[in-house]
This record gives sequence, structure tokens and C-alpha cells, in this order.
Amino acid sequence: MTDRSFRSILTGSFSTPCAKNPTVAMMEAGYAKAGLDARYINCDVKPENLAAAIAGAKAMEWAGFNCSIPHKIAVLDHLDSLAESARIIGAVNCVQIRHGKLTGNNTDGKGFLASLRKLTDPKDKTILILGAGGAARAIAVELALAGAKSITVANRSADKADSIVRLLKENTGCEAKTLDWSGNLAVPEGVDVLINATSIGLGDAEAMPSVEIETLAHARIVADVIPNPPMTKLLRSAKEQGCQTLDGLGMLVNQGIIGAELVLGVKLSAEIMEKTLAVIFGVQD
Ligand code: NDP
Repeated sequence: MTDRSFRSILTGSFSTPCAKNPTVAMMEAGYAKAGLDARYINCDVKPENLAAAIAGAKAMEWAGFNCSIPHKIAVLDHLDSLAESARIIGAVNCVQIRHGKLTGNNTDGKGFLASLRKLTDPKDKTILILGAGGAARAIAVELALAGAKSITVANRSADKADSIVRLLKENTGCEAKTLDWSGNLAVPEGVDVLINATSIGLGDAEAMPSVEIETLAHARIVADVIPNPPMTKLLRSAKEQGCQTLDGLGMLVNQGIIGAELVLGVKLSAEIMEKTLAVIFGVQD
């Protein structure tokens, strides 16, 4: 006779394609270090199967799950409640399941914020965001809620930048405006934090958003959301211009830590999660 439980806590991710998403390795390393008998299952879920996948997670009493591309908006139709910032952002990447009820959160922007706080407090800071997709939207809302003084959004498609500015003005007290981005962007003077929230640089160490490189020196901190490769060309260039830099690994690790706190109530080790990703991405110490 043994008292041991053979039932693991179940969590995971729904996205498609999912094979290149390393989150499972990072989360299971964190679970193991915390001594949790918990699994993180990386599921390839096509859009037409999202409802069935969610019903399955409920039926199997999963503790929660992450949603990634393309489900971050579609999942809203399946939730019982929504955290405030996720409501403003209009997208959810982390769902808790309690007593069969689903609560949606957005941890992307919160993960970026936690990573940024290691270098600076965003309160009263002047921010320039490149990009206006889901990551930019989540980051902009969290920075505004954290007290940023002003947020400027520059995006190839101006209408999406306009929509983030409208969102910030309607829901937060932060000053918000757009900056035209045709040709090479000249970074204005007085920027505290410049953030690349476009997908430029993902999987390509030589790709870089079109900016006038010497004007990067106008930004005190240059951050990138790109986790792979972590040392993007933008960050290398910013370093050469004397800026402090922040890579996308910290955002990825912190959104995982925040998600685990929401779903399991456990604080995971950032160190083991960072190490796991560094090995996967071939980052040298
Ligand atoms: P979206 O597809 O929603 O947005 C992509 C953004 O990149 C848009 O603003 C798009 O501009 C811009 N963009 C793409 N290609 C170009 C180009 N050639 N020239 C100019 N602009 C371009 O993606 P997400 O916001 O969801 O994700 C963005 C990046 O953030 C991804 O690389 C993702 O891996 C990363 N990410 C990192 C996380 C982390 O934890 N580190 C978490 C979440 C995302 P336009 O609107 O004009 O198309």
C-alpha cells in the first residue's frame, strides 16, 4: 500500500504550428525544480478544434493552459471571466481553470514589464514602441497601467498604430501618439525605452527594423521581444551606440513565471528556466 499520488497536475499550450515553441521545456524545467508533479503539454490545435480542445481541458480537469498564435482572440468566446488588462488588450494568452470556470489573462505584457523592471521602473518614462501587433498591444497597455508618461507607437501599417493609441487614450491616463514609419526611422531624443515589438529578427540574426542606427543613442534602453536569437542585430547595434539592452528571453521566462503563479499558485525559478532556454537557443555565457 502506498500513499503516493500518480495523478499529475495538467497544464499546456494550444497553438498551431506548435513544434518550434520551446515553452514546454522551459515550464517543465521550472516545475521539476519546484518539485511539482505537473506536466505542460504542447498541443497543436487548429482553429476549428479550439472549442473541443478547451472542452477537453475542462473535462480532464487541467489547471489551465496558454494560448498562442492563432487563438489569443478566439479564446475570448470560451471564457467565464476576464482580467482587467486582458479586457483592455482584447487578447488572452493564459487561462486558469477553477471548478470548471475559465478566467482569461494576458501575461505577455506583464512578462515584458517584469523583465524591464530589472533595468528601470516604467513610471513617468517616455516609451517608443516599434510594431503594433499583439505583443506591442499587450506591452503598451501594461506600460501605460504601470504609469508610463508617454507611449509613441510606430508601425508599418499606420491604422494598427492608431488603434493602440486610441486604446491607451480610452483606458489609461498615459499620453499616446503615433510616429510615421516610412523609410529609416530616426529615434527622437529623450526616449527612455525603445522596444522592438515587431517580428523582425525572429530566427534571423541579421534582420533589423529600419532605424537610423546612430539615433539609437537617443534611447537609454533598447529592448527586443525576439526570444530567438536573443542577441538580435538591433540589440548589438544599440550596444555599440552605448545603450543598455534587454533581450526577449526575460519576457518569455517572466510570462511563464506569471502564468504558473496564476494557474498553480507557485513561483517558479527564473534561473532554471533561463538556463533551459539558453541551452536550447545555443546562447553562450
Ligand atoms: P503580430 O503578427 O501580431 O505583429 C507583428 C508586428 O510586426 C506588426 O506590427 C507588423 O507590422 C510588424 N512587422 C512584421 N514584419 C515586418 C516588416 N518586414 N517590416 C515592418 N514591420 C513588420 O505578432 P505578435 O505581436 O504576436 O509578435 C511579434 C513578435 O513578438 C514575434 O516575433 C513573437 O515571437 C514575439 N513575442 C515574444 C514574446 C516573448 O515572450 N519574448 C511573447 C509574444 C511575442 P504590420 O502591422 O504592418 O504587419
